[in-house]
Amino acid sequence: MAGPEPLFDKIALIGIGLIGSSLARVVRRDNLARHIAIATRSEKTLARARELGLGDSYTTDAAQAAKDADLVIVSVPVGSSGDVAKEIAPVLKPGAIVTDVGSTKRSVIAQMAPHMPAGVHFIPGHPLAGTEKSGPDAGFADLFENRWCIFTPLPGTDPAALERLSEFWRRCGSNIDTMDPDHHDKVLAIVSHLPHIIAYNIVGTANDLEAVTQSEVIKYSASGFRDFTRLAASDPTMWRDVCLHNKDAILEMLARFSEDLASLQRAIRWGDGDKLFDLFTHTRAVRRSIIEAGQEIDVPDFGRQAIEHPRK
Ligand code: NAP
Repeated sequence: MAGPEPLFDKIALIGIGLIGSSLARVVRRDNLARHIAIATRSEKTLARARELGLGDSYTTDAAQAAKDADLVIVSVPVGSSGDVAKEIAPVLKPGAIVTDVGSTKRSVIAQMAPHMPAGVHFIPGHPLAGTEKSGPDAGFADLFENRWCIFTPLPGTDPAALERLSEFWRRCGSNIDTMDPDHHDKVLAIVSHLPHIIAYNIVGTANDLEAVTQSEVIKYSASGFRDFTRLAASDPTMWRDVCLHNKDAILEMLARFSEDLASLQRAIRWGDGDKLFDLFTHTRAVRRSIIEAGQEIDVPDFGRQAIEHPRK
């Protein structure tokens, strides 16, 4: 029996790294578009995307890919989204939907919205799905399965366009939420940006220690350190841009984090075992709630292997 009709005639994927190539794979697998146009900055990444057979047409010219597209998805580091918007703006067809996947929203809106022509539906988005890997080889069609995709629509957004884009993401496997951009940036600062910054920091500290050798850090890493190194292996360009483009919310959360860390430090110094036990009991419950919400599975190694490579 034939599956459902494609949702779009032509989808343009601008940026074909982890997120863009995962979209290409799910769009192809589930027949969500008749034509997938791929654009990326470098010839090298473009050649790899072509080898992997991720699309129907390939170019290093974002405007060429965006021309005649019904849906344009910009999946580049957030600091580059303004340049891409400027490049594609002159060719966008009236009625087209333009969205992005950037990890920060206020800054992306400030960069992209001014370039968007009248009659084009610009709907900022952010799929809360990823890994520490990057590039076109890193993507997989199941990446968005049972993950949230948050839209931060601008005032006056056409409800029909929003529904069409929501349906696209639902067909990619995601659950949909909408949020005010500033609120999105605060929420993401605590659930994503701070954990990555803490991971970068702790791995950096361990690397700089003189009392413990680097080979000991590696050898005994399974005691906890290893779990931080996964986050700290994330793409440097992407995370540099996240830090620069969600500065206010990240600094606010870091201030709160430092206060709480000082309080924990005091409890350890004064041997306040009750305080430590209470905190560690509460935090254990948080992990249980995440498992119950289906956002993690309760197997060793934090379940990454099982999540990223589900057994068929
Ligand atoms: P990625 O794997 O590193 O791929 C980045 C893509 O953007 C590549 O096609 C790259 O092109 C292109 N690019 C890099 N710099 C560019 C520039 N200055 N101008 C134009 N294109 C440029 O990155 P990703 O993980 O897919 O992330 C893409 C976006 O998704 C980011 O905004 C990130 O915040 C967001 N996001 C990421 C995750 C995650 O876990 N990784 C999760 C949710 C959202 P070349 O290779 O040809 O240079």
